[in-house]
Amino acid sequence: MKVADRERREELKEVRKKKKRKVCAFCVEHSPGPDWKDVARLRKFISDRAKILPRRVTGNCALHQRRVARAIKRARIMALLPFVSE
Ligand SMILES: [Zn+2]
Repeated sequence: MKVADRERREELKEVRKKKKRKVCAFCVEHSPGPDWKDVARLRKFISDRAKILPRRVTGNCALHQRRVARAIKRARIMALLPFVSE
């Protein structure tokens, strides 16, 4: 039983390893981060319920995720993006 468990765990590990690692979209293009006026870009980082997507989903690095979050919050205040979906 124990052995089977371990084998299964190893299998799962293999599957995870094969998964392609996401790279930060802003690091790739050496961009300092999104602008709050760049609504088209920011829309990719919010869910259909207008929530900011977590880093594990977007694949952003910590620095750019912070900048994305700040830009989204600014865009919301400027009424370019929604706070909640209707
Ligand atoms: Zn980055």
